[in-house]
Amino acid sequence: MTLLRSWVESANSADTNFPLNNLPYGVFAVDSETMPRCGVAIGDMIFDLFKAEEDGLITVADDAVFDVPYWNDFMELGRDAWSALRTQLTALLAEGATELHDYLVAQADVEMELPIAVSEYTDFYAGMQHAKNMGAILRGSPDLPANWLHIPVGYNGRASSVVVSGTDIHRPNGQMKAPDAAIPSFGPTKRLDIELEMGAIVGTGCAMGRPITVDQADDMIFGYVLLNDWSARDIQGWEYQPLGPFQGKAFGTTISPWIVTAAALEPFRTSVPEREMELLPYLDSTKDGLFDIELNVLMQPKGADKASLLATTNYSRMYYSAAEQLCHHAVGGCGMATGDLLGSGTISGPTPDEYGSLMEKSWAGREPFTLDTGETRTFIEDGDTLTLTGAAKGDGYKIGFGACVGTILPAKSFPV
Ligand code: MN
Repeated sequence: MTLLRSWVESANSADTNFPLNNLPYGVFAVDSETMPRCGVAIGDMIFDLFKAEEDGLITVADDAVFDVPYWNDFMELGRDAWSALRTQLTALLAEGATELHDYLVAQADVEMELPIAVSEYTDFYAGMQHAKNMGAILRGSPDLPANWLHIPVGYNGRASSVVVSGTDIHRPNGQMKAPDAAIPSFGPTKRLDIELEMGAIVGTGCAMGRPITVDQADDMIFGYVLLNDWSARDIQGWEYQPLGPFQGKAFGTTISPWIVTAAALEPFRTSVPEREMELLPYLDSTKDGLFDIELNVLMQPKGADKASLLATTNYSRMYYSAAEQLCHHAVGGCGMATGDLLGSGTISGPTPDEYGSLMEKSWAGREPFTLDTGETRTFIEDGDTLTLTGAAKGDGYKIGFGACVGTILPAKSFPV
């Protein structure tokens, strides 16, 4: 596929994240008095869907679905409605169509909000290189856990701490224990980290007790966002056995503001890597479940005039697809809902310049790395800004995600 041209001139550049081919969905606020609205990004503008629906320019259901500041009501309508909206928007915004400038707002003039009401958040561990690196660092062996080649390993996280890109995160306080200490201590984490992940957004759910196949799960996924699963490694290291991550992961999870739809990513589908052990038949699928999406991690210290590139990797590095994870999640009878968010797990490639966490990049703090400013880091320091970016690259265009950004502020004293 090549670039589809739009009457919105900025959407026709090879560099834009948001050409007509993309049409990602978000929620924007023009000021603090007006209710945030659903919109679609086109070039450096946003097409206002609340206004377009109110004026009858688009119709997706008998009742309005864009009179609320989240995409859940629309997602619940299902795949036919998703496809109908994409068709209507592609026609309305195409070169040669009536130019509806009154429906455009500049992205530079608005604040982005969370695009969905997050129902629940589950985080997985589906990157093989990351799992091997963490094994080598924490347990002295890169051998995968016995279950890893059979199960998409995951844990239930917290929807309450999912925030939109641009939200500052305070360094969390927690309980930790140094290896040579007799007793644990309480205070700000000293090992604050990121995890480069993709988030899959469940568009239509399944009832409790009604498990789904991988192919059905693939059809239920509405779209994808970039996801930073902020992690406090010292808190995590003390608490994680035997039940898994808890407070070390519960203080913030940042997602990018634009949902890139599964439809926009369709030309970039790619297969999961060859299975090292055959999966049990309930995890069989007929479709390629991953996407060729280039991903970057950047760090910018406070006061620096530019960010340093820490890693570049690709979503196709994952071992399990989001559809496999969703199938496994529901197979025992767990109901899944519109607005459920599934983190892929940290995405790391085979070499250090593809590592998607600082734990791996600094090898648990043993190997500091140098930024473009000349400063060194092992983990995140107060004032550092971490940015994830991502894009699928087409012929003369890209399907971009925009940025997933967060700045770390100093820990708060306790009690607050
Ligand atoms: Mn994670």
